[in-house]
Amino acid sequence: MFKKILIANRGEIACRVIRTCRKLGIATVAVYSEADAQALHVRMADEAVPIGPAAARDSYLVIDKIIAACRQTGAEAVHPGYGFLSENAAFATALDAAGIVFIGPPMNAVQAMGDKIESKILARKAGVSVVPGHVEPVSDPEEALRIARSIGYPVMVKAAAGGGGKGMRIAHDDPSLTEGLERARSEARSSFGDDRVFLEKYIEQPRHIEIQVLGDRHGHVIHLGERECSIQRRHQKVIEEAPSPFLDEATRQAMGAQAVALAEAVGYHSAGTVEFIVDAQRNFYFLEMNTRLQVEHPVTELVTGQDLVEWMIRIADGERLTLRQEDVTLSGWAIEARVYAEDPSRGFLPSTGRLRRYQAPEGKGIRVDTGVAEGLDVSMFYDPMIAKLCAYAPDRTMAAERLADALDAYVIRGLSHNIAFLTSLITHPRFLEGRLTTNFIAEEYGERFEGCALAAEAKEELAAVALAMRVVEAERAMAGSGKMHGWIPPHVASWLVTLDDEPFDLTIEPGAGSSPVIMVGTRPVPLQLDWKPGRLLARVEIGGRVRLVQVDRRAEGYLLTHRGAQVTAVIRTRKAAEYAARMPKKIPPDLSRFLVSPMPGLIVSVAVELGQEVKAGQELCVLEAMKMENVLRAERDGIIETLDAKPGDAVAADQVLMTFGSTG
Ligand code: ADP
Repeated sequence: MFKKILIANRGEIACRVIRTCRKLGIATVAVYSEADAQALHVRMADEAVPIGPAAARDSYLVIDKIIAACRQTGAEAVHPGYGFLSENAAFATALDAAGIVFIGPPMNAVQAMGDKIESKILARKAGVSVVPGHVEPVSDPEEALRIARSIGYPVMVKAAAGGGGKGMRIAHDDPSLTEGLERARSEARSSFGDDRVFLEKYIEQPRHIEIQVLGDRHGHVIHLGERECSIQRRHQKVIEEAPSPFLDEATRQAMGAQAVALAEAVGYHSAGTVEFIVDAQRNFYFLEMNTRLQVEHPVTELVTGQDLVEWMIRIADGERLTLRQEDVTLSGWAIEARVYAEDPSRGFLPSTGRLRRYQAPEGKGIRVDTGVAEGLDVSMFYDPMIAKLCAYAPDRTMAAERLADALDAYVIRGLSHNIAFLTSLITHPRFLEGRLTTNFIAEEYGERFEGCALAAEAKEELAAVALAMRVVEAERAMAGSGKMHGWIPPHVASWLVTLDDEPFDLTIEPGAGSSPVIMVGTRPVPLQLDWKPGRLLARVEIGGRVRLVQVDRRAEGYLLTHRGAQVTAVIRTRKAAEYAARMPKKIPPDLSRFLVSPMPGLIVSVAVELGQEVKAGQELCVLEAMKMENVLRAERDGIIETLDAKPGDAVAADQVLMTFGSTG
């Protein structure tokens, strides 16, 4: 077995490969660009070699630098992950010449499958059903119209060298074809340096279902069942699952057999994926073969119990695939959600910045593949994927529920992310029914997503949670110092809680036992709250069901995040609320200008001076509260305008410690 493997990649997939190497007792070498010096894959690997500037074309894509890093460290083999050099024939050839093993398929297969036209011709020969169409490049608009009419609209214009959904256009009639042809060609030219495009039938209500194959160097090929990846945005996968809720056993076997036949036809070894498009009648058609480890491979690992990276390494080392087709069984259900640094409310624009707080969920049936950590940056240089979050459970409904709970618990602060959007997707009734097509997102959401709305009942529960938190804080403050720090005593029975200005009347009534019960209007909400002030995650049990709610302290209450929704809760005694109602309405202050103490405590140290420029995420001061030291950090860039805290000061909750002016 190899003693040392270099991973020619970064981020979550580099970390993923390192994990399996560790399990197998193989030493690992990471490579990293200047932007990745602090990255997780560098910290995880046994050795790490710098390979140049941040831009991938100057580092991760430079073949000579990777080979030099292998020589320098004595790595015997390279795992390329996905993307970057994973399907680059020149890379595999150069490794071969240097006597280093490429952990991946044979290059002839990569080349044959890299071209959508060539791969279709090959697939047809191997008895694989391909999308009806014309597998020859077209450039002349007149000829394209003739072909489209013979295929029958709608048709799809596709780049032969395509990938990542680029260079693809749907045409429903002659004018849209003429335009689509031109746009697909120019997109293909700029993305791939190859403007060959071809036409095929557009399959309506399409579902994307792919088969995982695995072959060894001794001619033994098997498949590991399917993954459904129909939840896509602009032809890019967002949610994937295994198995597919749409396939019956006969279709699964037929697709598996065709995928194996194609792999055998190109002498394939290593892990690979044969992608199919499936219509509403379960007719399936070959789309393309991906000759590498796929992003969404974890769902297959979860339902088959196999480690695909381990097999890739063993196969590259010449081992035989001891797994037989009849040994492969799919058990349970796995769903993966791709967590991205992007802003769904602004048309899914990628977001960059520092992960000020980062806490991934864990627990039974939860798998998180990530390459980030708290304090690290998500930069503009690479893919904005933060993590792949997978939930595994005995059936689909339970897996979806588990995933929703895990998303509730996923704490990310410092940049925009798509957690709420993912929550909305996997709790969507149509998703839960399994009525999927690749148009699901476009049809149900359009081009942006503004967040989830809470049902009336859920709002009442959050109002009760907010009040319970206020009581916890009050009790803590009193127990801690004997002083009140301006807190409202918890024995006050009558409260008004507003959620984003929507008022709820709450009372605290003595319960049957020793614990009081919160009433929202006339509805009793018997809840158990497991939370401490300062914690970002609260565990709430209401009627036997556990919910996870994220809590950010705000000047007058809490920002609560749950099930893809965010509400600001303000909690007042009835008396204070009546008083506040009589006050003239003031414009809410811009709180990002203030650093307020999130809880009563003692200032331990102050890290900044008056007039100093600070960056978002920078340490401002340390507050000791409840025997814990809490680092308070800048929410955004700015200049310290006022400073009202010094070491030794006792401060109350919500006390203003500093104010910021804007820079420049
Ligand atoms: P890429 O290599 O760019 O990812 P694919 O050929 O794999 O391109 O197609 C990506 C996605 O585009 C598919 O998952 C599917 O949603 C859609 N698609 C591709 N071809 C067709 C087709 N003929 N009919 C309907 N949808 C298609």
